[in-house]
Amino acid sequence: MTATDDDTTLSAGRVAPWLEQMMAALRGAGETDVPCGECVACCSSRQFVHVEPDERAALARIPEEVRFPTPGMPAGHVVLGYDEQGRCPMLGDRGCTIYEDRPRACRVYDCRMFVATGVEPDRDQPAIVRQVRRWRFEPETAEDAGVLAALRSVAAVLDDPAAYPGGRVPSRASQRAAIAVGLHELGRGATPIAPAAVRVELTRRSG
Ligand code: SF4
Repeated sequence: MTATDDDTTLSAGRVAPWLEQMMAALRGAGETDVPCGECVACCSSRQFVHVEPDERAALARIPEEVRFPTPGMPAGHVVLGYDEQGRCPMLGDRGCTIYEDRPRACRVYDCRMFVATGVEPDRDQPAIVRQVRRWRFEPETAEDAGVLAALRSVAAVLDDPAAYPGGRVPSRASQRAAIAVGLHELGRGATPIAPAAVRVELTRRSG
């Protein structure tokens, strides 16, 4: 089944614990735990999956012929491409064929980030768009409401080139949503957030 086959709503859980887990995953201190069911939207949406040189278990299971050098990265960084249907070469009839050893990028990807941040997924990924529409975070506690407000206040400035040190807005919605997650603390109690504040923090973190 793909996301496009099913329109029923899905519980995304509470947003505050979700954010904690997502932050840990982005720091490399864990992974997301997405109740995907049979959905393979993110594995079949024309995504390039970056694999870093230290990901030995994943690399040992990915055939050389489906790896390509990652543009702009040192030797050893590779990406997996996708077929004419947009499917990852490691996707089989029953899901990921290397699930236990899947790349780090797959372990931290969580399409609930679009719901939490309010960033719209890219239109060229309709299966992800459909799946994102199904998620519902559980009724908000005061903590959850604060988390959502913080995430969305930061995400709201991420379409503005002035927010980025190089002046270039990341082309993919998933990048902007991940940035909003990483910078959400800027939004706590101080909305609206100025693009300049986001820019300063992005510069500090990249330094
Ligand atoms: S490696 Fe596995 S989890 Fe990652 S995109 Fe491919 S099929 Fe999906």
